[in-house]
Amino acid sequence: MAVDSETMGLRLGRDPLCVVQLSAGDGDAHLVRLSRPDYDAPNLKALLADPAVTKILHFGRFDIAMFKLHLGVVTAPVYCTKIASKLARTYTDKHGLKDVSRELLGVDMSKVQQSSDWGAAKLSPEQIAYAASDVLHLHRLRDRLDDMLRREGRAELAEACFGFLPHRALLDLAGWEEMDIFAHA
Ligand code: MN
Repeated sequence: MAVDSETMGLRLGRDPLCVVQLSAGDGDAHLVRLSRPDYDAPNLKALLADPAVTKILHFGRFDIAMFKLHLGVVTAPVYCTKIASKLARTYTDKHGLKDVSRELLGVDMSKVQQSSDWGAAKLSPEQIAYAASDVLHLHRLRDRLDDMLRREGRAELAEACFGFLPHRALLDLAGWEEMDIFAHA
């Protein structure tokens, strides 16, 4: 299941979670507008925590932390297309969803609506189209990146990183957001 979210900003603890987008990879996207502050969304919470469903995200670290903070669930298992891109596409430092999608899929994504008011009472057609586009290509992206990871002999390393990713998000929430616990200093 491809998963993305839109928030009021990028700061954990300050900015609320507003919208969660889902796609099963069939060309349809489903948008869940969350009620605040109760975040009553039992089906969504069950899906995110379902051990039988791999959640495909781009920079999942942020979404997973947001979901834990607001929905109270640890999202797992996960596949992060940004981590896969960093491990496979070492010839570039452009790992944003727009750049990766353009190169690997030939898809041009607009990022114009990225910083818009996702807490609005009614979302605009442009916001809805933007939110949907963020999950519609993640399955194909994963397939392309998996090919590259296998070719470069890094599929296992990527798997291990995806396994650790939910814990990385929990470290962010626990106060280690800026600190690299693997660093020497
Ligand atoms: Mn998005």
